[in-house]
Amino acid sequence: MRQTHLFTKTKKEAPGDEVAKNAQLLMQAGYIYKNMAGAYSFLPLGLRVIEKINTVIREEMDAIGGQEMHMPSLQDPALWKQTDRWSDENVDVWFKSELQAGGEVGLAWTHEEVITDIMRQYVSSYKDLPFFAYQIQTKFRNEMRAKSGIMRTREFAMKDLYSFCATPEQHEAFYESCADAYMKIFDRLGIGDKTYKTFASGGAFTKFSHEFQTLAEAGEDVVYVNEEKGIAVNEEVLAEVDLSELGVTKEELEERKSIEVGNIFSLGTKFSEAIGLTFKDEEGNDQPVIMGSYGIGPARAMGTVVDLLSDEKGIVWPESIAPYKVHLVGLNGDDAEVKDYADGIYTALKRRGVEVLYDDRTEVRPGQKFADSDLLGMPYRVVVSRKTKEEGKFEVVTRATGEVRYLSEEELYTDFT
Ligand code: ATP
Ligand code: MG
Repeated sequence: MRQTHLFTKTKKEAPGDEVAKNAQLLMQAGYIYKNMAGAYSFLPLGLRVIEKINTVIREEMDAIGGQEMHMPSLQDPALWKQTDRWSDENVDVWFKSELQAGGEVGLAWTHEEVITDIMRQYVSSYKDLPFFAYQIQTKFRNEMRAKSGIMRTREFAMKDLYSFCATPEQHEAFYESCADAYMKIFDRLGIGDKTYKTFASGGAFTKFSHEFQTLAEAGEDVVYVNEEKGIAVNEEVLAEVDLSELGVTKEELEERKSIEVGNIFSLGTKFSEAIGLTFKDEEGNDQPVIMGSYGIGPARAMGTVVDLLSDEKGIVWPESIAPYKVHLVGLNGDDAEVKDYADGIYTALKRRGVEVLYDDRTEVRPGQKFADSDLLGMPYRVVVSRKTKEEGKFEVVTRATGEVRYLSEEELYTDFT
């Protein structure tokens, strides 16, 4: 991608009306646009990051047997009345509207009811179970406050997976494999070392559910953590958890702020009983399906990465989700020869399948180009100047470490492919 072609531009200053660091940096760099509180646009560079996060999530969900599908946002109140989750007293995040033809309609804030209803058509015997279905789909939530940038919005994509099992053993086996898959996802996103599987409240037939909490000052949650032992407990359940069973004492736990990047939840038979999702067991008796739900917010994960990995100069993307791997910076000014040379390097890298953002602007001074490059945060910066052309050596800077290397044209191609 040529920067002269990209419609987004970086800004000199972070937006003044934004308190969250993730949104400040992403807006300044042109990854996102704030349409209103709690609603952001993902611009070309930002969309590439989200798509890469979604790819990581899809790969890990497919690896544990997840089947991708897509459900609607528009919701029929009748279905939600069956589980008592239509009323505003019980659920305080609904966005509701009226149909022109008459009657109420809601915008889905989760999909347990919807998927349970669908599966009534496809489950009849224990032989149909277990299976696991997921989507990456837009949720609407009338959140009271939206102050954490893209980490808490009123419209956001969620990866929500639902498990359908015949026995507690089947459920527990999947629950564990999903927990492992979540850690793989957060590792691949570059936040694994700060992310803990924590005990949280409200599992239906296990006492606890689990959240994945990433330690960060910007977090809205509080966890009690022992980093050495890798143990973390949510604030709300600290009193309920038997710490001796975990091998820690209260004194060994440190209070830390954190971001809930994902959660996994045993639903038991709450939804299957209310909506009538049953199967015939081996003896021919009707049994309610045992369910679980498993969520991750890709945008919240993106915000967490920005929050944790950025430095005073700007964003630092891990290679796995960077919009482009290489930022090729042409220091050509109005030197047409150097410009041609840089164009050639860009084309050669692209031909070899390297994802390159190319700063081909002629009117921008080197200092500004470097500052923009640091702000945008691609993993590697490759500088092309008259000196490079004459000496055949390219300066390659690793964004995360500041390491500088000098590579020949050939080495450049083998290094990045
Ligand atoms: P929170 O306690 O932060 O409100 P939640 O318990 O409501 O989260 P879930 O309903 O379990 O979250 O949603 C699953 C995942 O979706 C969360 O772990 C988080 O990553 C993401 N998520 C939840 N709410 C939002 C939001 N308003 N904006 C962006 N992502 C969200
Ligand atoms: Mg919530």
